[in-house]
Parts: sequence; structure tokens; C-alpha cells
Amino acid sequence: MSCIFCSSEGTYQSVAHIVPESLGGKTSPIGKPGVTCDACNQYFGQKVESKALQSFPFSGFRVLTGVPSKKGTMPKIQTTAGVVHATGNSGVVQLEPRSDELRRLINSGKVNQLRIIAEVTEPLAVCRTLLKIGLEQLGKHFYEVATSERVRAARDFARRPARSEHWWFIIQANPVKYVSGAHQYTNSSIEIIEREGVLISVLHLLGVSTMIPLEQGTLPPEPRELPEPEYRIIIAKC
Ligand SMILES: [Zn+2]
Repeated sequence: MSCIFCSSEGTYQSVAHIVPESLGGKTSPIGKPGVTCDACNQYFGQKVESKALQSFPFSGFRVLTGVPSKKGTMPKIQTTAGVVHATGNSGVVQLEPRSDELRRLINSGKVNQLRIIAEVTEPLAVCRTLLKIGLEQLGKHFYEVATSERVRAARDFARRPARSEHWWFIIQANPVKYVSGAHQYTNSSIEIIEREGVLISVLHLLGVSTMIPLEQGTLPPEPRELPEPEYRIIIAKC
């Protein structure tokens, strides 16, 4: 077997999660050995996933669900009100107010809402992470398809996108699911489906789902079919 991303024989020492541990936790599905080489795994982890995890939809998800990173650190995000820390209890966050003045306003109850802007600040990194997850899942069960011409463009866009290329994906966010408290963190799932002849990777995390085509040349659905703000169609450009 050779690596689906770089075709090298490479080394395959590391046992890697298909969904980054920071999102899926320790129980997230493990990739099949031999699908992604160590060098590519390392590349994705350091250059792509680390950026994607700072961006919506992953950043808010991580803070609200409180899944620690691989190194065991608790996620946090910078907001206009200060730093929001995960507590490890799903749906419970802790705000470190940016000023004493704000702290007083919060303590006195004059400020009682925190809004986290759901902006995909790293569309390219999020897109490439989603492609990598989908292709690894495909490679785990259908290695021949994952290395075939059919998904070559997706492999290239994930591993080495060329200037001016673009790809699209859909985010369906239902934050109420993870802020309604008392929700136990549930496992992530990845499905590869075929829709109108196109392979699509569907990732479900608590409160967030994403869909990304694994084949080039498909058009995103009409925005009116997928109304905002529940659905967002994101175009990632290189
Ligand atoms: Zn490789």
C-alpha cells in the first residue's frame, strides 16, 4: 500500500485519528494503517488542522464541549469580551473578562450575554481538514476508490492546493444542541455517501455537521435550498 496523499511507500508508525483528537476525543475513529504516511499525517496536523481548529465551526465546538487537545490542554477562544475557556463540562464556559470594568458589569448583571461570532476565519484550512477526514474514511473502507482518479482532485486540494483553485463545503450548525447544558459529549461520526453520483463526506459532531464533495466539478446547492443561519455554504479559495 502507498499513501493516498503523496503515493510514497513512506513510514506508517503513528496511529492517527481520522477526526483530530481535539475534536473527536480519544474515542474518535482510528485511520487504517497504510492509508496516510507519517510525513503527511504530520503535515496535516501541523500546517492544516492546527489552523482549522482555531476557526468556526471547530473553535466554538471545542470550547463549548470542552474536549481537551491531544496534549491535554483545554481549548479557549479570544472574543471581544475576553478569553473564553472551556471548563470540561459540556455547555459550560468560563469568561476571563478583558477588563476590570467589564468584570464589574458582569458581576452586577448589567452584561449577561456573550456572543461568539460564527465566522469561518480559516476557510481553506477547514476545507482541507474536512477533505482529509473524508478521504481517510474512504481509504479505510475503500482504499481503491481513495487512490482512484475519481477523487484525485480532492487529494490534491487537501495536500497541495494550487493557487486560484477552490472547493466548497456546507456547515450545518445547531449551537443550541451544545449550549443547552447537561449534554453529554457524544462521539463524532463520518459517513461517505453518494448523492447524484458524487461522493460526499458527511461529518457529524455534537451540534455541527459538515458536508463536502470528494469530487471536483460539482456545484454547491442553491442558497435558498439551505437557509442561513442554520446552513452556510463556504467557498474555500487557495
Ligand atoms: Zn504521504
